Amino acid sequence: MDDVDCLVLGLGAMGSATLYHLARMKQSVVGIEQFETGHGFGSSHGHSRAFRVFYHDPLYTELAEATLPLWQELQEASGESLIHLCGFLAYGGIESPLFEQNLTAIRRSRAEFEQLTPEDVTMQFPALQLPKQSMACFTPRAGFLDASRCVMAHLSEAQKFGAAVHEQVRVENIEFAGDRPGVVRTSVGDFRADRLVVTAGPWTADVLNKLRLPLTVTRQQKFYFRPDGPLLQGPTDLPVYADYDTRFYGFPMHGPGIKVADDSRGDTTHPDHIDRTIQQTTRQSLNKWLKALMPKYSFQFHEASTCMYTETPDQDFLIGRHPHHPNVLVGGGFSGHGFKFSTLIGLILAQLVVEESTPWPIERFALDRFD
Ligand SMILES: Cc1cc2nc3c(=O)[nH]c(=O)nc-3n(C[C@H](O)[C@H](O)[C@H](O)COP(=O)(O)OP(=O)(O)OC[C@H]3O[C@@H](n4cnc5c(N)ncnc54)[C@H](O)[C@@H]3O)c2cc1C
Repeated sequence: MDDVDCLVLGLGAMGSATLYHLARMKQSVVGIEQFETGHGFGSSHGHSRAFRVFYHDPLYTELAEATLPLWQELQEASGESLIHLCGFLAYGGIESPLFEQNLTAIRRSRAEFEQLTPEDVTMQFPALQLPKQSMACFTPRAGFLDASRCVMAHLSEAQKFGAAVHEQVRVENIEFAGDRPGVVRTSVGDFRADRLVVTAGPWTADVLNKLRLPLTVTRQQKFYFRPDGPLLQGPTDLPVYADYDTRFYGFPMHGPGIKVADDSRGDTTHPDHIDRTIQQTTRQSLNKWLKALMPKYSFQFHEASTCMYTETPDQDFLIGRHPHHPNVLVGGGFSGHGFKFSTLIGLILAQLVVEESTPWPIERFALDRFD
């Protein structure tokens, strides 16, 4: 049996960030991951995740703005290109309630934004042609993160600060013992940990099965297309663009092409049995949407992959202490919009472990709010 001060269970976006911040705070910390690090079976893989401050609630705008300098710090420390600030363009029909709600919230925040007409958008981004009866909002201090690189940068920086990483080790059971997490049984042996952070993504409800967390896992897919025109070459030609009526969104050229996806909730699934067959109807709808948005181009489908959202009933996150075991911290239920915050969430979880409190307003994310 290995004795460890602190164990992080699951090394996707949230676990890798937590490991990094704990190691930076000079904690002796071990991270456990059931697959190889950077794998494609969870929720954090791929070339891009939107980094936006345009939100339905100023709390998320405030948290996103606070996260940006942390990404820039990690980018500098790792020497990796992690964040691309190409801006975020949201648009919706004249009476789109979701768009209106987000616009009201951004007006109440301190974030920089610009309201644009469809004509303004085409002036600024000649490739884009929004529907005539639409309104748009551009936030310049936004863009996208290179997802897999962010995870790997957190892990390699954590290791430089002394963290240990165990890959291909599955946690099979946690035997809680009062305040302490007790014994963590894994596929290669047991660990006795003083403190445990559970960041198991779509497996969170399984790992903490006694809590009966109301989490729903859905199957989501992302599609890469390549434009025929030579003009769309790099991340600066386009912002990240999101249609608040269809819930389709897309990115500039990055990695294998232009990534587009549907933010609507897919079929409910379980992470161990997910069907990864590519949905041809979604592919066709996204291709049609892309063609209408950028009528000067044609787009060839290139590749697609499958990912999962882990949703709470209110789509707010779960961050905080286990209600019965104070030395167990949980970060889960990121409801399809957590990646951008992951380095801040790692910091918050590390503060809860080391300092037993955090200055960040996390009351709304309490685990027992659904009891
Ligand atoms: C298609 C798609 C698009 C998205 N777009 C955006 C976006 O644009 N912007 C944004 O901010 N967010 C976005 N998100 C959401 C964001 O990617 C997720 O919120 C985030 O990646 C969740 O990270 P996680 O660490 O909680 O989960 P995961 O990445 O799934 O990590 C959990 C890890 O725990 C490991 N694990 C689980 N159980 C065990 C066990 N028993 N033993 C050992 N290891 C275990 C898993 O193998 C996994 O590696 C998107 C998500 C998807 C699927």
